[in-house]
Amino acid sequence: MKLLNFRSSVKSKEFRIQVAILLGLVLVTVTASEFSKSQDAQEQLVSKVALPLWCFDSEADSLWRSVVKEGCGQDKSLGATKISAPVNDASDLDIYVKTRFLAAQSDARKKGINLVITSGFRTAARQEYLFQKAVQKYGSEKEASKWVLPPDKSHHPDGIALDVNYPGNPGDTKWLEVNGYKYGLCRVYKNEWWHFEPVIAPGEKCPPLVANALTKVE
Ligand SMILES: [Zn+2]
Repeated sequence: MKLLNFRSSVKSKEFRIQVAILLGLVLVTVTASEFSKSQDAQEQLVSKVALPLWCFDSEADSLWRSVVKEGCGQDKSLGATKISAPVNDASDLDIYVKTRFLAAQSDARKKGINLVITSGFRTAARQEYLFQKAVQKYGSEKEASKWVLPPDKSHHPDGIALDVNYPGNPGDTKWLEVNGYKYGLCRVYKNEWWHFEPVIAPGEKCPPLVANALTKVE
């Protein structure tokens, strides 16, 4: 009887240990699968949203490539997508657009090419003034819109459009037209060699030029 009791107590102890081990295993498996699920989701997010992420080191005057988990550290990001709305409040040039230009300007300088922003961010009032001046010059709002858009249509008051080297120096600006895609900057209009917008992610192909600004908003 005593022996039996002893055996049964051992049995039950063994049983308890086995159950504990089993539960432990189940817990580890579930946790590992949840962890790998969240890792998969994270990796999917990284490959979908962030790569490649280009960063500009303004002190070393160089571009480098990062992944979103690490970001750009102390350096500035060029942004991983096309930019159709400003990130910061529209009182200055968008920070990504500025960084894209600075990175392009720096590489251009190394090749003896001079790039200068002659008009970037404009207030709505300034854009309206320029639009009205164009209406006088071209005779109608429609004709004027081929060259200057009203404030609610233009991307200059959003801080996401750049006029480069205007009115002089189209030769150097051609370098930006050819190489701007690396930095996510594209010429967009056939009639404006100076006007650039961040319509692609850095490294993507720029879309074909459209005839003029009116074509885009019509
Ligand atoms: Zn412009």
